[in-house]
Amino acid sequence: MFLRRFPLNPTCNLLTVAAFVCAVSLATAADSPQPEISSRARAIHARAIVIDGHNDLPWKLRQKAKSSFDVWDIAKPVPGMHTDIPRLRKGGVGAQFWAAYVPADTLKKGTSVRTTMEQIDLIHRMLQRYPETFEWALTADAIESAHKRGKIGSLIGVEGGHSIDGSLGVLRTYYTLGVRYMTLTHSDTLAWADSSTDVSKSGGLSDFGREVVREMNRLGMLVDISHTSDDTVRDALEVSTAPIIASHSSARALANHVRCIPDDLLRAIGEKGGVVMVNFFSGYLVPESADYFADILEVNRKMRQEYPDEKEYEKARDAWRKVMQKQITEGGKVKPGTVKDVVNHIDHIVKVAGIDHVGLGGDYDGVSMLPEGMGDVSSYPLITQELLNRGYSEKDIHKILGGNTLRARRAAEKVAAKLR
Ligand SMILES: [Zn+2]
Repeated sequence: MFLRRFPLNPTCNLLTVAAFVCAVSLATAADSPQPEISSRARAIHARAIVIDGHNDLPWKLRQKAKSSFDVWDIAKPVPGMHTDIPRLRKGGVGAQFWAAYVPADTLKKGTSVRTTMEQIDLIHRMLQRYPETFEWALTADAIESAHKRGKIGSLIGVEGGHSIDGSLGVLRTYYTLGVRYMTLTHSDTLAWADSSTDVSKSGGLSDFGREVVREMNRLGMLVDISHTSDDTVRDALEVSTAPIIASHSSARALANHVRCIPDDLLRAIGEKGGVVMVNFFSGYLVPESADYFADILEVNRKMRQEYPDEKEYEKARDAWRKVMQKQITEGGKVKPGTVKDVVNHIDHIVKVAGIDHVGLGGDYDGVSMLPEGMGDVSSYPLITQELLNRGYSEKDIHKILGGNTLRARRAAEKVAAKLR
C-alpha cells in the first residue's frame, strides 16, 4: 500500500520521519484569518499563565539563520517562522520550554554534546539579547514571578537522550545551564532507551536508562516521554518518583500514530501526577493525517532495512523530502485540521486522565503542518475560546493553559529537594 501512496525514487533510503515532522519545516503553516475571540475569552486568557512545553525556534534559527539573531531579529515579525516576539505577545505566552534539539544521528558522528551545547548557547544568547521580553524561570515560583512582571519565563528542554552521550556528568551540566526537562529519546532507539519510531533494544529502559531517570529525579529535571516507546513510558513511570510529562504528544485514540499516547498510558501518567501536553502538528491531531504519517513511518522502516549506508541515506532523504513536500502541498492528502481538533485531544485526555493532566506543547517551528488559523504562536487564545465554547470553567481553562504544567514542575522540585 505504501508504494502506491508514496512512489519512491529507487535510490531512496531512510528518512528519519520523527525528525522530519519535528525539526524540518517543509510546507508553511496555514495562515488563514483567525476567528473572532470574545472579550470574555480574552480576559480569561490574559489572567492565565500560558505555558508551552515545546518550541523548536532554536533549531530553526540554526538551520535558516546561521544561529544569528542579527540575521533573524525576532523582536520584529519574522516571515517563515512560527515564532517571534510580537506573536508570542499576541498569543499571551507566559512561559516557554525552548527545545535544545539536535538530530539523533549526531551521536554516531560524535557531535551530539557539542551541538546540544551550541543550541543551549543559542537560547542563552536569545535571553541576553531580549531581556525586556525573556527571563530565566527555572522554578515554578520563578515562572510565576516572571509572569507578574510581564516577562516570558524561559526554560530549556533537551530533546533526546542522545544529547548526553551516555554521560550522567553531561546530564548534570545541562541542568546547571537551565535544562528542566529531557526527552528520553528522539527518533532513534539508544543503547539505554527505546524510541517509538525505531526498533526495540532494551524493551524499554536498560539499567543505565533507569539510572538516568533516577538522576533526573534527584536533579529536578522533568522526565519527558514524548518520542519514546510505550515500554519506555511504562519503565519511566515505574522508576520515576516524580511526575513525568509528554512535552509534545497527543492522544493515540484520536490520531493513530506511535508518537501519540495510548489511553492506558494517559491514565497512568495522570495517576502519577504527570501532564500530557498536546502537540499541534496536524499529523498527530487529525485522524486521516495521522494515518498518512503512520504510513510514511512504515515506508521509512522498510527502507532503513534496505539501505544501511549513511551517505546513501542522506542523499536519498533529500530526494524523499521533495516527493513528500509535493504530496503535502499539492496532493491534498493531509488535512491540517482546526482548533477543534486540538481541543478534541484536550477533551479526550481530560476524559481519560483527568482535568489536572493535560497541557499544551505546540511544537511550533518544529512541524511541517499546523491547523488552519493556528499557524503561529499568536494562536493560543483560539484554544481558550474553543474551551469556553465547550463549557470549560475559567479554573479548568487555566489548568490546561499552564496550571498543570506549573504543578508538575513544582512537584519535580519537591522530589529533588527530598532526594538531595
Ligand atoms: Zn519532537
